[in-house]
Amino acid sequence: MKHEIIIIGAGLTGLTIAYLLHKKGVKATIIESRDRVGGRIYTLKTETHSNLELGATWFGNKHTNLKHLLDELNIGYFQQYQEGESALVFNTMVPPHLFVTNPNNEKSYRIKNGSKAIVDSLSKAILGSIILNQKIKQISDKGSYLELTSTNGYVYRANNVIITMPQKLLLSQILFKPELPLELVKTMKSTHTWMGDSIKFVLSYKTPFWREAGKSGMVISQIGAVTEVYDHSNYQKNEFALMGFVNQNLRSYSKEDRKSKIIEYLSKYISLEVQNYMDYKEKDWSLDNSTLTKEESDRVSIHPEYGNPVFNKKFMNDKLYIAGTETSKLFGGYMEGAVSSAIYTLSDL
Ligand SMILES: Cc1cc2nc3c(=O)[nH]c(=O)nc-3n(C[C@H](O)[C@H](O)[C@H](O)COP(=O)(O)OP(=O)(O)OC[C@H]3O[C@@H](n4cnc5c(N)ncnc54)[C@H](O)[C@@H]3O)c2cc1C
Repeated sequence: MKHEIIIIGAGLTGLTIAYLLHKKGVKATIIESRDRVGGRIYTLKTETHSNLELGATWFGNKHTNLKHLLDELNIGYFQQYQEGESALVFNTMVPPHLFVTNPNNEKSYRIKNGSKAIVDSLSKAILGSIILNQKIKQISDKGSYLELTSTNGYVYRANNVIITMPQKLLLSQILFKPELPLELVKTMKSTHTWMGDSIKFVLSYKTPFWREAGKSGMVISQIGAVTEVYDHSNYQKNEFALMGFVNQNLRSYSKEDRKSKIIEYLSKYISLEVQNYMDYKEKDWSLDNSTLTKEESDRVSIHPEYGNPVFNKKFMNDKLYIAGTETSKLFGGYMEGAVSSAIYTLSDL
């Protein structure tokens, strides 16, 4: 069987492309390496907490394509809790700088039922099928169509293929026959996978003790076990949590040791009650081989410039398209970049 369009990757880009195609009455098949949809959107449900974000979480008013999509899918969102006192830690030898967020600052939002609500809703809305647990390893140009082979031996044929994987991963996992143009390969090699090397953690609690003490739960830190932590309670205000990013220097520690360091640090800058957690969850994205290559360890200190114009071209005699958040000039790396990249790719198809 030959497919009209195959999309590689069921992350936000791939699912949005399939959704936009569906609106045009066109069927697409998505092939996904993981056993779930969402890619870098990963919302965890535990026994006590329904939506803990270990992947993408926030967006702002400037993310207009994402907001439009959320409105269209009838997905609600709420403002990130920032009331009360926050701490900025420059140096462990002196007390932290305490501050209150200006209510006129740019607002940041979270999706009410977790970021997964958007990928779940897109998955339900699309016309074609999503094939999970199939990692594509080869794409060959067969003249009038492209042939895709997965690591477990399945072969798919399609008139058009859209790849939405992070570009470094794409280069390391897929063999192209014939090879892709050098200019494209060079650009992909230097395209950093946004947040691909981050370690995220969530501590869940019975009560929002920090809110009760007039604190926001936010700590921004240039040193120590944690680089950022925020209130991660749900919008119904009946499940409470703190969520943040671990200092990458703790990557080589065991999970238990990392947790102890985080608790010790937050006890100092939030309250000793941090120790009374219900559950600790973490995800080191650098170990996730559907996001990052083994070789990739190039840390970036500022947001890279994404959306190289080479990604706007078509390859393999106009049958192959390269999409994904890092190909977007607009907010590349973010969820907005993923949605924008989907819109752009569709305009060219
Ligand atoms: C920890 C973390 C925090 C983040 N926080 C935010 C945030 O707060 N706000 C924000 O806007 N953005 C955030 N981001 C970024 C956001 O998650 C991404 O911009 C967006 O989800 C990217 O979507 P995508 O579809 O382009 O790529 P991906 O989500 O990476 O999707 C690519 C898909 O391809 C699949 N795939 C990979 N290899 C193969 C293969 N060989 N064959 C088949 N399928 C394959 C993957 O499994 C994946 O599902 C965060 C990311 C991380 C990791």
